[in-house]
Amino acid sequence: MKTAIIIRYCEIHLKGKNRSFFEKMLKENIKRSLKGIDFKFTVMHSRYLIEDFDDNDYEYIIDKLGKIAGIHTVSRALVVESTFDNIVEAALLLCAEKIGTFKVETNRADKTFTPDSMETSRQLGGKVLEKFGGKLSVKVKNPDFIISVDIREDGKTFVYTDSIRCLSGMPVGSAGKGLLLISGGIDSPVAGYLTCKRGMRLDCLHFHSFPYTGEAAKEKVIELTRRVGEFNGGINLYVVSFTHIQEEIHKNCPEEFMITLMRRFMMRIAERLSKRIGSQAIITGESLGQVASQTIESITSSNSVVTMPVLRPLIMMDKIDIIEIARKIDTYETSILPYEDCCTVFLPKFPAIKPNLERVIKAESRLDVEGLIEEALKNIEKIEL
Ligand code: ATP
Ligand code: MG
Repeated sequence: MKTAIIIRYCEIHLKGKNRSFFEKMLKENIKRSLKGIDFKFTVMHSRYLIEDFDDNDYEYIIDKLGKIAGIHTVSRALVVESTFDNIVEAALLLCAEKIGTFKVETNRADKTFTPDSMETSRQLGGKVLEKFGGKLSVKVKNPDFIISVDIREDGKTFVYTDSIRCLSGMPVGSAGKGLLLISGGIDSPVAGYLTCKRGMRLDCLHFHSFPYTGEAAKEKVIELTRRVGEFNGGINLYVVSFTHIQEEIHKNCPEEFMITLMRRFMMRIAERLSKRIGSQAIITGESLGQVASQTIESITSSNSVVTMPVLRPLIMMDKIDIIEIARKIDTYETSILPYEDCCTVFLPKFPAIKPNLERVIKAESRLDVEGLIEEALKNIEKIEL
């Protein structure tokens, strides 16, 4: 029996006149993600259909669809020529592994099909009970599963029992472009994933401090970026050397402002790069009060050097909830690998928790801010993942 995958989307329904823009984007994202696989793609009313694929590719396809923002659920359906006997055969096949309560729901687009929807559901329910009455029973309210029968106009019928919950959200690319500041930590990949899920296409920027941070630390960030890229339809990682900037701060400024000043440089460089590559926002993995550099005073200090929107998807989330998402998107185990990060180099014993902006600006005036930024941007490395 042939199988097909039904793809449903969610919030796009709310988009009124702009709906076709979102639908087109989702369709393109799906096709791009399944490049290299043979299948037939059909647009149905408010749904997409994937057919005529090799059964061996099923798991791969489902895995890919599970990473595409905008897809709400998918179902594996059996496809039969529309006769009542064929529908029964498909339903019995699906019920063979089921246990518990069910009901049948029939949707009959082909009005020439007999019996009508109500009667099809009733008679099919009877056939299922005849065969599996020992382990299955009918329950109209909140059954364990639903046997869905979709009788289409083209003479084919879909029969399915399960739908797999996917990412939901909005198609990547529908909400503009952003630049994610990605470290080797737990938080920033999660922030990136949440941003993709709301439809923003990402590029990533990482600061490394060679030779203080080594090749393994960089590889770790590349791996994390690649994982975020799975939700983004591929991704570019920009790597900037931060060493000279850190050395200059360390040499010229009070130790307590080390991190505060680093953050201000990161933001400025991110904004400059954003403008170059057409990015409309900076995204960070900051979470309010998590560490000294994430108090509202520290955030005020780093935010005040840029005019571009800075999006902080995790700002009000607890670490425990962030970790849960990191596990779900499979970045956690990589994030906790014990490599040094540029923020752990020259780490002050007592960082300013509530940096005074006037004092920060005064400390910073000892540096050639513009020259250091120019130098950092000149030696930027781009890695396509
Ligand atoms: P993360 O788990 O994302 O590393 P964190 O809890 O360690 O976050 P910080 O080190 O204060 O927090 O970093 C806050 C944010 O600043 C990060 O989420 C990230 O967006 C950005 N950031 C920190 N270090 C770097 C870096 N080396 N390169 C690029 N961005 C960075
Ligand atoms: Mg970190």
